[in-house]
Amino acid sequence: MFSTMQDEQLSLATLLRYAASFHGDATISTWTGDGVRTSTYRDMGRDAAKLSNALRELGVGVGDRVGTFMWNNTEHMTVYAAVPAMGAVLHAINIRLFPEQAIYVTNHAEDQVVIVDGSLVPMFQEYLPKMRTVRHVVVVNGDPATLTVPEGVQLHSYTELIAAQPDTYDYPVLEEHSPAGMCYTSGTTGDPKGVVYSHRSNWLHAMQVLSPSGMRFSDHDTVLAIVPLFHANAWGLPYAAMMSGASLLMPDRFLQPAPLLQMMDAVRPTFAAAVPTIWGGVLAALDAHPQDISYLTRCVVGGSAVPPAMMRAFEEKHGVTLLHAWGMTETSPLGSVGHPPRGATGEQEWEYRFTQGRFPAGVQARIVGDDGAVLPNDGEAWGEVEVRGPWITASYYSPEGPMVDPEKFDDGWLRTGDVGKISPNGFLTLVDRSKDVIKSGGEWISSVDLENAVMGHPAVAEASVIGVPDEKWDERPLVAIVLKEGATAEASELREFLSDKFAKWQLPEHWTFIDEVPKTSVGKFDKKRLRARYADGDLKVVTL
Ligand code: AMP
Repeated sequence: MFSTMQDEQLSLATLLRYAASFHGDATISTWTGDGVRTSTYRDMGRDAAKLSNALRELGVGVGDRVGTFMWNNTEHMTVYAAVPAMGAVLHAINIRLFPEQAIYVTNHAEDQVVIVDGSLVPMFQEYLPKMRTVRHVVVVNGDPATLTVPEGVQLHSYTELIAAQPDTYDYPVLEEHSPAGMCYTSGTTGDPKGVVYSHRSNWLHAMQVLSPSGMRFSDHDTVLAIVPLFHANAWGLPYAAMMSGASLLMPDRFLQPAPLLQMMDAVRPTFAAAVPTIWGGVLAALDAHPQDISYLTRCVVGGSAVPPAMMRAFEEKHGVTLLHAWGMTETSPLGSVGHPPRGATGEQEWEYRFTQGRFPAGVQARIVGDDGAVLPNDGEAWGEVEVRGPWITASYYSPEGPMVDPEKFDDGWLRTGDVGKISPNGFLTLVDRSKDVIKSGGEWISSVDLENAVMGHPAVAEASVIGVPDEKWDERPLVAIVLKEGATAEASELREFLSDKFAKWQLPEHWTFIDEVPKTSVGKFDKKRLRARYADGDLKVVTL
């Protein structure tokens, strides 16, 4: 027996051709600070062909890495489309990494070309002399003369580079497992680790993003892509947008709540994607200066746990549905999305939406206990979440070959490092990162549960909970609180607020009030830095 189906390779070049032709009128709008500049997918198709021709002239061939050091804008989207289509590998460098990490990832990926936003030239200037493999730097949206390049490196203006190039390109037919793009993890410990996506994984992932169990956007939507294109494969937005013909709104470098609300008002996006810290800021800005944003029907939020109070506030005050999603750089990143199941209503519906969501068919998941035994999906048993599937990495990248570290992989499954439980109908509830869970007297306290609960107090803007050493109990929770502007609350009042939500032994006795929770390069609470501040005696702790 044989299948009669055609042997067509899944290819991002097909997506580019499709978007540029059948969805040629869809738009990409980039915020300029006081308005938008808008182009179409047809323009993107033309510029992607020009860029591909130019890169080929610079010597970029199949499998070569092209780095970007850019904000989310039209040109970044064009590079996202062109580089994999021509068979090269896109490496979107996280511009917020520590300098030594940004240099490390560029050297590790062996980027030949880096395309840099003009506004980031001063930062990039510091890094460039230590980037050993870079032969060409292309400055976009800025003046290349502002950058000094070391000997052996050629400097180009993006506009001039592509200007005289033909506006068609004969994209190669590639085997679908060929590398298309790469992202490095933004972990706070050790060197970032490289994950390489293939044409096939990106294609299948884009279909999942668009599916009813994913983000569900279409050509009827305009997607505000706040999540940086360098974070976790941009959550799959660029290729899903190309596949669906959704229009895009790109914030460029204007990521504060005020400009975000300004650009929303101007373009009226219907869908958006960002981490909870961004939405927390937007919510506070809306409280201070009310504005109708009900055109924004859905926002996907993930990267860290979304506080239930934030989800309710967006829905009830602004008519905006926050979709809670879970994923990782290693999972392309879509793992699960919190759509309530059929039949759930009222509070039950909310309870489902507060979870990290339901796994789709393409992501197999299981919970594994400390002893390596697979635990039941009964919604009760806790353990490390392990996943596998066609858009989940099987190794980390190294120039010498795949790295399959047993701490990260378990017999073909990716060990996520997240501790959680899975319900019989496939919903994931994360308890914590395994390294953040607080071990008190042989029992576990979820730092995430404490954070979510205390962020429900009206005076609290942000809260981050870490375990601190304790002679009797090994560890006890310390709650770091950022109060809302002008608000006041005592530690005792906040502890009292938690008292009906937790067992008595779980209630934190250590509290500290800080101006801001330190954040990682992708906007998550940086507990490592908070722990270091505690260890240095830098936090004023109130013990009740
Ligand atoms: P990154 O690779 O930077 O996207 O980080 C992935 C990690 O972010 C996951 O392993 C989780 O620890 C965390 N994460 C992602 N989404 C969520 C979520 N919805 N709730 C809690 N943690 C999350």
